[in-house]
Amino acid sequence: MTPTASDVSNAEHVIRTHCPIEWPEARRCNNCHGRFPCKTHEWAWAVLTAAGRSENEILALDVRTGPWS
Ligand SMILES: [Zn+2]
Repeated sequence: MTPTASDVSNAEHVIRTHCPIEWPEARRCNNCHGRFPCKTHEWAWAVLTAAGRSENEILALDVRTGPWS
């Protein structure tokens, strides 16, 4: 199944907002605070992969300069 343009733009937003932060015991999602990768992030990754994005292209969406920015 090919994702729609709106799926892809939602997924890009999710990759930017549901990103990992380092906790002493594990990486956690910066948005929903579950263990990373959270379900939302996994959904977004699957959508972007189905849309033909490479892993590097998806990782490049996370443009943070530090864990809290
Ligand atoms: Zn999350």
